[in-house]
Amino acid sequence: MFYNSKEWIESTEYKSEDFEIFNGYSTYETIRTYNKNLFALNFHYERLKKSAIFLGLEFPEYNKLKETLLEGVKKFNCKEDIRIKILINKYTSKNKSFYAFIEPIYEVDDLRESGVVLAISRERKPKNPVIPYYVKTSLNGYGLYLRQKYNVYYDAIVLNEFGYVTEGTKSNLFMVSAGVIITPPLSAGILPGITRKVVIDLIKSFNIDFEERNIELWELLSADEIFLTHTSAGIVPVRRIVPNFTFNAPGITTETLINYWKDFIIQNNEYWD
Ligand code: PLP
Repeated sequence: MFYNSKEWIESTEYKSEDFEIFNGYSTYETIRTYNKNLFALNFHYERLKKSAIFLGLEFPEYNKLKETLLEGVKKFNCKEDIRIKILINKYTSKNKSFYAFIEPIYEVDDLRESGVVLAISRERKPKNPVIPYYVKTSLNGYGLYLRQKYNVYYDAIVLNEFGYVTEGTKSNLFMVSAGVIITPPLSAGILPGITRKVVIDLIKSFNIDFEERNIELWELLSADEIFLTHTSAGIVPVRRIVPNFTFNAPGITTETLINYWKDFIIQNNEYWD
């Protein structure tokens, strides 16, 4: 028997296993399409696999996942590109299956033209979390809470125990200072973002000066440009960090990366395996 917000329902169909969808013991991925093709599914799959192995969950075969998602994209048949959220929990894991949710992405050009506003989270990430930062799960106990707490902003920057900048609650972070692009290393305690990885490939293809190193908060706040990366929106310029630190949005470097992004990913076979 379960309560569905209006009444108790007697159901012989209902199994205690169904509860698995609610208890958060799961891993997930968000992927997206460009021109109806699944972008970097192979990279998302590798990350999903690592998270699933850490949590002791079984996962589907790559080809099965790809085939099912392509079928979903075709069935959903919408003119916009789409975002697909994949979730694996103990229940789906038993038959190497998964849940998938599809929705259209309405590109917001304003974001690219005028940038977004960020907060700095008052809460810090612990140095030795129970679940390592490479595991994508709502079980990590801070991500979803902070996303909710700072939800009037596009995202909130989280510092680690040492006060170094890590990432947002749903995005990775880059800054541009005196012509050098800098992003925190994985060792700062961040999710190895797929868009982060591809943006680094793009930066390297340009021969722009690039550093992966710890960033102090004062450095970030005095940067020339800041941008975020995440699957759904790609590269997102930041125009302000509250209360009143302002940045060029998009600055020339960020704008260059945004302008080359689509051509770069489309021409690179590695992202479409
Ligand atoms: N960092 C965190 C904490 C995230 O939750 C996400 C995405 O959900 C990202 C970074 C960006 O990762 P990706 O580029 O793979 O979407």
